[in-house]
Amino acid sequence: MNERVSWQVCASCGQELAASDPRQRCPACRGLLELRHRAPPMTHGGLRALLDSRLGVRRGPLASGVWRYRELVLPEADDSLVSYPEGNTPLLARPAVAAWAGVPELLLKHEGHNPTGSFKDRGMTVGVTQARRVRATAVACASTGNTGASLAAYAALAGIPALVIVPKGQVAVGKLTQVLAYGARTILVRGDFDACLSLALAAGERLGVYLLNSINPFRLEGQKTIVLELLQQLGWEPPDWIVVPAGNLGNTAAFGKALREACEWGLISRVPRLAAVQAEGAAPFALSYRDGFATRHRVQAHTVATAISIGNPASYERAVQAIRETDGVVLAVSDAEILEAKAVVDASGAGCEPASAASVAGARQLVRSGVIRKTDRVVAVLTGHLLKDPDVVLAYHQGTDAPSPRANRPVEIEPKLEEIERVLSARATP
Ligand SMILES: *Cc1c(COP(=O)(O)O)cnc(C)c1O
Ligand SMILES: [Zn+2]
Repeated sequence: MNERVSWQVCASCGQELAASDPRQRCPACRGLLELRHRAPPMTHGGLRALLDSRLGVRRGPLASGVWRYRELVLPEADDSLVSYPEGNTPLLARPAVAAWAGVPELLLKHEGHNPTGSFKDRGMTVGVTQARRVRATAVACASTGNTGASLAAYAALAGIPALVIVPKGQVAVGKLTQVLAYGARTILVRGDFDACLSLALAAGERLGVYLLNSINPFRLEGQKTIVLELLQQLGWEPPDWIVVPAGNLGNTAAFGKALREACEWGLISRVPRLAAVQAEGAAPFALSYRDGFATRHRVQAHTVATAISIGNPASYERAVQAIRETDGVVLAVSDAEILEAKAVVDASGAGCEPASAASVAGARQLVRSGVIRKTDRVVAVLTGHLLKDPDVVLAYHQGTDAPSPRANRPVEIEPKLEEIERVLSARATP
């Protein structure tokens, strides 16, 4: 037992499984599984130095912003990794966004810069690598869109057939486009995301396909690198807050684990506080937080931010642990606040999809309520790319019903220079 490098543990009853066991839940109690790794061969300064020495690597697995941290992600993985590469996303300073949120030191960790335009690629490179290691003949997921887009792309890269199960009519056009284009078998379910997830779980157990939903512990290992990478970009000097949109709670859980391990292995000596931000119309986790996590809630989800439109989050327990261990907070913001935050992020040139803007809207709310202090250093995670959901953008800027506060209306003209001149002078005097 001593030489083992990685293994799985049931988070509920403690039962251990081999890392190569493809089951998605604990065979004894159906609890969620978590991956554990032997401590890296070097810790503290040595580990930092090793990770920093890889920053200039441009080729091979270590050029990936996920596999650079392989000792903390999947130390046993050999060089048959399924990698684009991914990660290496920018940490952006956008003064206009910071000013809107009301905190001078706000940085944006832009995960929309991943190969398929969302952070899901960080999990999927590990998940599909694991699928290959267990010799899966097919992979599947239920998705609000981005997981499906990412799975489709990585399965294509690995040459494994993929099945993507999505709620009909509830997937943003950019995401559905990707799933179809990358060649996944696409199933449109007449139901919501939670119905898709139940179906995928049943298919995983009875039809023998390898499931890559967010309860898959290998995906969470990859998602930890959002935090590891941003800490490294800050020279291992942690911010006071990390603010993240929260839907199925995979990221919240992964961030908690990343911070726990980063502390344990000496990469950081102080843990930032996590803020998980939900949309008001899909806020079961925020409800639970308000009563000290005494009850687990389920809701009928409804929000413009489709990526976090989830009523019964799968990673609930481990997200509770993440919030508790980091002295974190959970809050909900309205769709109007999300859309305004998005308009501000978009107009700064950064741009993001609606769900991503929940982090910036949440940061603003926490500054206003005094939970985040004006002197705090804050990193808000932008989870997905602007072009994922063009319909929301067009409706916001050129919609005809309620006028949006920051609408940038297009101007229609006859093809005459005077008309351009008129538009230009109107702009100059707002
Ligand atoms: C998946 C996703 C989320 C939600 O993340 P969870 O880990 O499910 O909480 C948020 N934003 C975007 C863009 C996503 O694709
Ligand atoms: Zn168990």
